[in-house]
Amino acid sequence: MAKGNIGVTTENIFPVIKKFLYSDHEIFLRELVSNAVDATQKLRTLASFGEYKGEPGKLDVTVTVNKEDGTLRISDHGIGMTADDIDKYINQIAFSGAEEFLEKYKDTANSIIGHFGLGFYSAFMVAKKVVISSLSYKEDAKPVRWECDGSPEYELTDGDRTTRGTDIILYIDDESKEFLDQTRIDALLKKYCRFLPVPVYSGDKLINATEPKWMKKPSELTDKDYLEFYHELYPGQDDPLFWIHLNVDYPFTLTGILYFPKIKNNFEITKNRIQLYSNQVYVTDSVEGVVPEFMMLLQGVIDSPDIPLNVSRSYLQSDTAVKKISGYITKKVASRLEDLFKANRADFEQKWPDIRIFIEYGMLTDEKFCDAAMKFTLLEDTSHKFYTLEEYKILVEPEQTEKDGNIVYLYTTDPTAQYNYIKAANDKGYNVLLMDGQLDSHFVQLLEHKLEKTRLVRVDSDVIDRLIRKDEGKTVNLTATQRNILTTLFQSSVPEVEKAMFMVEFEAMGADDMPIVITQNEYMRRMKDMAAMQPGMNFYGEMPDSYTLVVNTSSKLVEDIRDKATAALEAQIKPLEETVDADNAKVEEIRSKATDGKLDAEAQKQTDDLLAAVNSARDEQQKLIKDYAAGQPVVRQLIDLALLGNGLLKGKDLSDFIARSVSLIK
Ligand code: ADP
Repeated sequence: MAKGNIGVTTENIFPVIKKFLYSDHEIFLRELVSNAVDATQKLRTLASFGEYKGEPGKLDVTVTVNKEDGTLRISDHGIGMTADDIDKYINQIAFSGAEEFLEKYKDTANSIIGHFGLGFYSAFMVAKKVVISSLSYKEDAKPVRWECDGSPEYELTDGDRTTRGTDIILYIDDESKEFLDQTRIDALLKKYCRFLPVPVYSGDKLINATEPKWMKKPSELTDKDYLEFYHELYPGQDDPLFWIHLNVDYPFTLTGILYFPKIKNNFEITKNRIQLYSNQVYVTDSVEGVVPEFMMLLQGVIDSPDIPLNVSRSYLQSDTAVKKISGYITKKVASRLEDLFKANRADFEQKWPDIRIFIEYGMLTDEKFCDAAMKFTLLEDTSHKFYTLEEYKILVEPEQTEKDGNIVYLYTTDPTAQYNYIKAANDKGYNVLLMDGQLDSHFVQLLEHKLEKTRLVRVDSDVIDRLIRKDEGKTVNLTATQRNILTTLFQSSVPEVEKAMFMVEFEAMGADDMPIVITQNEYMRRMKDMAAMQPGMNFYGEMPDSYTLVVNTSSKLVEDIRDKATAALEAQIKPLEETVDADNAKVEEIRSKATDGKLDAEAQKQTDDLLAAVNSARDEQQKLIKDYAAGQPVVRQLIDLALLGNGLLKGKDLSDFIARSVSLIK
């Protein structure tokens, strides 16, 4: 019998293991089964090269729970270990350089785990004692038994194993009794070992009947194979839209199949995620950092031996191999999408509603993907025609270029609600894009940023002639007094609309255009849209929507209103306006004479009196116009019609409108 100390000088490594791997105790099983599978594959290789002359026999791995004696046993028929091997691989190697390493990385303890062949020792996360019973494949090898109770002391004695291979026996500790539960072990093996290349049994149940399709060549697989594999990974899902088979061996090794799912709801996105494997051993489905963020919407499998097994996520993200992998996947996905687009555009267009969220998300979050996607991202117009960015520019450039050379892309976020505006634009020969997707408010900004000399404006953000400014616009035929009267007349006739604010403006549209058009300022609306999607921008979110009530001064109805109001009010309003102007001028004059901007008591009193007079003249104007407005059902009717067209007329205002309509018809 030999006794010795495991080659770690740091007095007690086991508390370290327990502490750092604490959250993930279950991975010990993955580690031990992986070792068993490795040993089995090594034997296969040796046999195939004729270096092992014996009978390989049944090459499988069995995990056995024994509740009575509180053990969990992992048995294989692999190459086994001699006493020397154990000394070399178990006693020494695992922690060689541990002390130095711990010293160096004591602040970033998590990264320690990735650097050690910690695999075997992870057994001590759940076991108070571990026994290795092994017989090496080597000729004349003697069975050995190694035992260790979790202190750095171990015992190495003659063993009693009669067949080639290794048994690892864990005496499960009191806090880890869950690992003596057969169902729990079954579930863990299913999770981690499902695609291992050697048969793994839990008791007498075979765990991994499936052969991993991603390891095959794409040419060996049919569409049916890909679909079957998808449903095996994610039972109960609809067929995916398409898939990408990844297969590289330089500058790193990576295989995998990524599926584009039909995204139905957010829950499914977070539930059915990409699974990461390292040599067919399941590592994690927390793939943040390994695949670019936008690819979290994809599903499937990525397998790379370059992905370290035992690492924390922060370690994964800082790993250069992993970073390269991420960049590679981005490139590959972009080029596959481009191929699909080129090969079958009709099919691509048909799938567009489902893949659009993915592509837009990718373009918004990944510079490189965005550049690649500029070639195949599609714009859809209100008649459901699709255009590439290049095609769309060619389409709208002749009609939708402003006098200063900017091209204006019009879009709608709600074709039903904004129907009137779309119609007006179409009548004018303009095209309108559909931007009703979840990410479109961001996407609109991205396009504006990426496309040269191009503005995007929502079709209802201004009246048609001002959406795309091709000339100076017609002059509004109102005198200052008329403008003053009409502003208050219309403003005071707007009903209270919850969370909405209206500003009156005048525009000479056509005689046949609507008398009043309600528009919503593009900039303000965008701010609100963005606020709704981002936390911490409540200021904009709380603000009312601000609308512009554009009064068409060329409309016959408005001209009538103007003339009637002028006749009724001008004689009284004009002198009041003159008073306001005159008094304001006096105030200005007094202020201009003040030394250092300071007024003496006398001057102060004079200006106060003048300003009071200005205010009362203004109030009087307001009162006159408002009283007049109260007797003008047509003004209110026109406003209500415009509100109605925008879905803004509700409740009592709506029923008043109906009653008023009836009385106006009579
Ligand atoms: P790693 O697997 O990362 O090398 P481990 O601590 O898991 O680190 O294992 C250390 C070494 O012990 C392995 O490389 C292998 O040589 C040997 N070993 C572990 N388990 C077995 C086994 N079941 N059969 C044969 N050799 C084994």
